[in-house]
Amino acid sequence: LSKIEIKKMKLQTSLASLNKFTKMMTSSFHSLAEERDIRLNFTEEEKDINIYFDVAKLHKIISNLLSNALKFTLAGGKVEIIVSTQLNKGRNRRMAEITVRDTGIGISADQLPHVFDRFYQVDSSDTRRFEGTGIGLALTKELVELHHGDIMVKSKKDMGTEFIVHLPLGKDHLTENEITDANVEVKQPIYDFEDSSPNLESESLKSQKVVSKIAPMILVVEDNQDMRQYIGESLYDVYNLIEAEDGEQGFNQAIKHLPDLIISDVMMPGMDGFELTKKLKEDIRTSHIPVILLTAKAGDESKIKGLETGADAYVNKPFNTKELLVRAKNLVKQREKLRGKFEKNITIDPSEVTVTSIDEDFLRMAVNIVEKHIDNNEFSVEQFSAEMLMSRNSLYRKLKKLINQSTSQFIRTIRLKRAAQLIKQKNAPIGEIAYMVGFEKPSYFTECFKKQFGVLPTEYGGD
Ligand code: ATP
Ligand code: MG
Repeated sequence: LSKIEIKKMKLQTSLASLNKFTKMMTSSFHSLAEERDIRLNFTEEEKDINIYFDVAKLHKIISNLLSNALKFTLAGGKVEIIVSTQLNKGRNRRMAEITVRDTGIGISADQLPHVFDRFYQVDSSDTRRFEGTGIGLALTKELVELHHGDIMVKSKKDMGTEFIVHLPLGKDHLTENEITDANVEVKQPIYDFEDSSPNLESESLKSQKVVSKIAPMILVVEDNQDMRQYIGESLYDVYNLIEAEDGEQGFNQAIKHLPDLIISDVMMPGMDGFELTKKLKEDIRTSHIPVILLTAKAGDESKIKGLETGADAYVNKPFNTKELLVRAKNLVKQREKLRGKFEKNITIDPSEVTVTSIDEDFLRMAVNIVEKHIDNNEFSVEQFSAEMLMSRNSLYRKLKKLINQSTSQFIRTIRLKRAAQLIKQKNAPIGEIAYMVGFEKPSYFTECFKKQFGVLPTEYGGD
C-alpha cells in the first residue's frame, strides 16, 4: 500500500451509530480473544454517539487497533474498547472518542514515538515472534487523519498500552462529496461475522426450479403470488429460480443462496423493495448482486432518483416478460464480464472489476492483505480470512461470486500478477522473483505461471 494509494483514497462518510459499529466490530474479535485466553470488553460510556464516518475505513482503524492489542497481550490479559465523547484540549472542542486499552507487553518510552512510522516494529525478542509488517499503525493514523481526527498512544513497558482515537462530531469538517447519503439514519452492520447468518431452518422455500446447476440463479421477491408466477414464467427455462414473499425473506434467501440476480417488487408489506435493495447493497455478503426493482408507476421514477436505492435497473409495471428477460440477461452478463476481467488483467485495479464501493473496498483490502504477505509461502487461507475478519466460508463465497476464484486461487493469482510485473521490470532473475512472490519451488512457479499467462516466465515480456 503506497503513499500514493492512500492519497487517492476518498472519504465516503454517512451518519451512523459509532456505538453499534464498535460493538459489532468487537464481537467479531471475540473468538480470536477466546482462543488467546484474553478477556475482551466493549463499553459505551455514552449512548447514541452518531457521527459521520467512512464504514470501510473505520473498520480498518478499529481492526488494526484491536488486532494489535490482542497480538501484544499475553494469555490471561484483558483488552477493552470504550466509546465516549471527550473534550479535545488541543482543538478545544468535543469529539467522539474510541479507546483501545490492553494489559499487554507495552512499549518503552524511547520506542513509543516511532510506533506510527511505517515498517516500524519494536525490535526485541518479545515481539519478534509476532508476524506482521509494521504498517498497521501507519495506515491507521492516515485513515484517522483522513477523517480529520487524531490518534494518540500511551504505554508503559510491561503494563499495557492505550490508543485513543478522536473523531469530529457533526459534519462541518466534511465537503459535500465526502457525505454519501446524508439521509441515512443508522447503518446496519455490513461486515460479515462467523455467526451472523440468519437461521434459515424455518424458512420455507416456496418453490425452487432447478434448470441446471451451472445456470445463473435468480431470486424473485414479490408478495403477490400471481405476479410471482408471471415473472417466473418468463425466466424459468433459462435460470434457476428461487422465490420469496417479502423483503425479510428475500434478504435471508439472498444470504443463503447468493443468487446472480434479484428481481424485487417495490411495494411489499414489511421491508419494501427500496429497503431491501439498500440492505443488500450495504452487506458485504450480497453487495455484488445486481438488483432489478419493479416499480408501480412511471411517476415513481423521480422519487426513486431522490432515494438513491442503489438498484441496478428499474422496470415499470405493467411490463412484458420479454423486457424483463432482456434486462436480466444484460445484468447477469455484465457481472460475468467483470468476474472474468480480474483474471485477465495483469494490473489489479479493484475499481475496474466492482460496481459498488463496498465491493471495491473489499477487494482492495483483500489485495492489500495478500500483497503484505506476498513473500511468505506459508501465508494461509486461515490467516487471510482472519485478517479479512470473515469466516473462511464467507470469504470463499464472496471471492467466488465477485471474481470467480477460490480463496487459494486468489492468493496465487495475486502472487503471479506481481511476478509478471517484476519480470517485466527485469530487475531480478526468475528464480529470485519466484521466491519474492512466495513460491518455494521455481518449477512449480513456472507451471502456475504458464497456466495463468499461457507462456513461460522466461518467454514473458510483453503485455
Ligand atoms: P501489521 O499491523 O502490519 O501486521 P505490526 O502489528 O507489527 O504489523 P503496527 O500495527 O504498525 O505493526 O505496529 C507497530 C509496532 O508497534 C508493533 O510491531 C509493536 O511492536 C508495537 N505495538 C503496536 N500496538 C501495540 C500494543 N497494543 N502493545 C504493544 N506494542 C504494540
Ligand atoms: Mg498491527
